[in-house]
Amino acid sequence: MQRSITRRDFLNGAALTIGAAVVPSSLFLACQVHTAPEQSLDYYPPALTGLRGSHRGSFETAHSLRDGTFWQHAGTPADSGETYDLVVVGAGISGLSAAHFYRTVAGPKARVLILENHDDFGGHAKRNEFSAGRRTLLGFGGTYAIESPAPYSAVAKSLIEELGIDVASYPKYVAQDLYFSLGLTPSIFFDQETFGADKLVVDPTSLGGTETGDRASETPARWQQFLAEAPLSAKAKRAYYQLYHDHKDYLPGLPSEAKKARLARISYANFLKDIVGVPEEVVKVLQAGPQPLFGVGFDAVSAQDAWGMGYPGFTGMKLDPAPGKGMNRDAIPNQEAEKYFFHFPDGNATIARLLVRKLISQAIPGTSAADIVTARANYAKLDEDGSPVRIRLNSTVVRVKHDGDLASAKQVEVAYARYGKTYRVRASHCILACWHVVIPYVCEELPGSQKQALYAAAKVPLLYTNVAIREWEAFRKLGVSSIYAPGCYHTEATLDVPVSIGPYQCSRQPGEPIVIHMMKTPCRPGLPARDQHRAGRMELFNTTFETMERNIRDQLARMLGPGGFDPSRDVTAITVNRWPHGYAYEYNSLFDDFWLEGGETPCEVARKPFGRIAIANADAGAYAYTDGAIDQAWRAVGEISNRPPSPQAGAGLAGSATTAADV
Ligand SMILES: Cc1cc2nc3c(=O)[nH]c(=O)nc-3n(C[C@H](O)[C@H](O)[C@H](O)COP(=O)(O)OP(=O)(O)OC[C@H]3O[C@@H](n4cnc5c(N)ncnc54)[C@H](O)[C@@H]3O)c2cc1C
Repeated sequence: MQRSITRRDFLNGAALTIGAAVVPSSLFLACQVHTAPEQSLDYYPPALTGLRGSHRGSFETAHSLRDGTFWQHAGTPADSGETYDLVVVGAGISGLSAAHFYRTVAGPKARVLILENHDDFGGHAKRNEFSAGRRTLLGFGGTYAIESPAPYSAVAKSLIEELGIDVASYPKYVAQDLYFSLGLTPSIFFDQETFGADKLVVDPTSLGGTETGDRASETPARWQQFLAEAPLSAKAKRAYYQLYHDHKDYLPGLPSEAKKARLARISYANFLKDIVGVPEEVVKVLQAGPQPLFGVGFDAVSAQDAWGMGYPGFTGMKLDPAPGKGMNRDAIPNQEAEKYFFHFPDGNATIARLLVRKLISQAIPGTSAADIVTARANYAKLDEDGSPVRIRLNSTVVRVKHDGDLASAKQVEVAYARYGKTYRVRASHCILACWHVVIPYVCEELPGSQKQALYAAAKVPLLYTNVAIREWEAFRKLGVSSIYAPGCYHTEATLDVPVSIGPYQCSRQPGEPIVIHMMKTPCRPGLPARDQHRAGRMELFNTTFETMERNIRDQLARMLGPGGFDPSRDVTAITVNRWPHGYAYEYNSLFDDFWLEGGETPCEVARKPFGRIAIANADAGAYAYTDGAIDQAWRAVGEISNRPPSPQAGAGLAGSATTAADV
């Protein structure tokens, strides 16, 4: 990394996007389009590299709506003459599920239009593809797996089964022992800026990701290695070791319930500093631990949640194992939920693709959940005349209103902007399966209190970065399968989960190409969680791909360079999935009093039906999981129909029970 990054190095990302067969939608913003770009056989968003996720061209319209400038330039929407039974806003898993559930009620001939502002369907469940010689590598651009901290509801499980996914069969597809058998283990990267030296050290506290095998016997040796090599002061090393090995009661004399109430109101960082008394260096090591789940570090996550997630310091505190009031659902261990896990090579993009195939069979060939892994979607088929279900990409909905008086209106009018023009369609009903923060700008008719509740669902920003590399010899030489880097730009870097399914074969030999998954949650430690997310969102919007790429290459070189990794030789492509509006915001006992004290939650107010309009999306359950998105779609369809959609079982919906009393 001493040499400067050449323009050629950057070809993997930014330039390839421009050179790719798909024309960026922003190029069309100012002109009228006669032949839709999606009709071109070359239109294939999963293969685009560079800055993806919320890509250029997907958000400008919504932002101008927010800023009050959209209608100054837009003019009256052209009447498309189209009429539907249902218009769904948002082609994420919630919107696609809503379309599917609606057809179970209204029948297969019901006419459904799904409008989506991105150039691909799936919402956060996005597929990334990379060419590696004659091989195609897959990566997940967002939603990683079928998993949930609480058990899947009957509705969500039933849909997963209906799509042909046999969750129990997962062990057949994953090479669980692959990395372990090669001697690779999870490690921690200490960076010079935070810890005074760049050093990759074995993580003595982790038995590691998807690997299995009883390795408890290795733990003392790993601790020895860690204590010898970590660039921490002797005092910090001692405190770190004791934190994991002492079984002390740090709140003596209090009953369990009172301890939990105290832990719910103090951050884990402050618990460690002020109650346990560890040096700041130890907090720095642990700080970024919860970021992949919460989008913030331990300065903004409660000590009670840290206890639930298994972080150290609580084994001597005699806490009743039942979940405490105000715990985040991510922090409540549940063995039944843990068993329900399935990772496809493109993550839950496979669920989105299976739903699309169910809605528009001609769009994706094949018949099974295995053959879809390598099937190429034909985007030209998504929005065809005569098809009962149509998915219209690159279309931002800008207004939804009843056609006349709320009580007597027989239709809603939905206006959307597409490639610089505005159109309107009519429908008997509309389901808003889009992000809740967008809804008040789109649906002005809603009551003010509901708009306020919708605004409260500002999402958690994230970067999910996939780096395709030529080979993973450096990981083998260093004995590393995944890296936690608490001080770095990306705090996680992991070799792809070795899953082979259908015709897709994972990388098994260190000499073969593979995808590294990296993750960053931009946050500002010290601020309340929502303010951290707001600042992080701005950071993501304002950072160029070139800066991100430089950070990625620099970090990989520093972490893996001692194993021979050379980014300019080994990196073959980079896709940064930028999600400024990422996870649904989940309530936090440090900042949301209602979550501790009970009462109606903002999401319950936000999701109330309004005339012919119902509201879905994972935000409607304040629950950042796929089953939550499915359950909210099921509820929304029930609200606009006279009877509940199939499946009939609605008990225990993941997002419907959202008061503190329920946890
Ligand atoms: C990076 C990441 C990783 C995740 N990992 C997991 C995981 O491993 N397991 C899990 O269960 N869950 C995971 N989740 C959560 C899960 O992805 C979501 O709960 C679920 O996919 C959300 O689906 P949705 O349809 O509700 O929302 P989205 O997927 O956000 O879809 C909503 C769609 O509406 C579109 N939209 C917004 N405004 C408009 C408009 N005005 N006009 C048209 N369209 C609009 C949006 O662009 C978006 O495409 C993850 C989320 C993220 C961000």
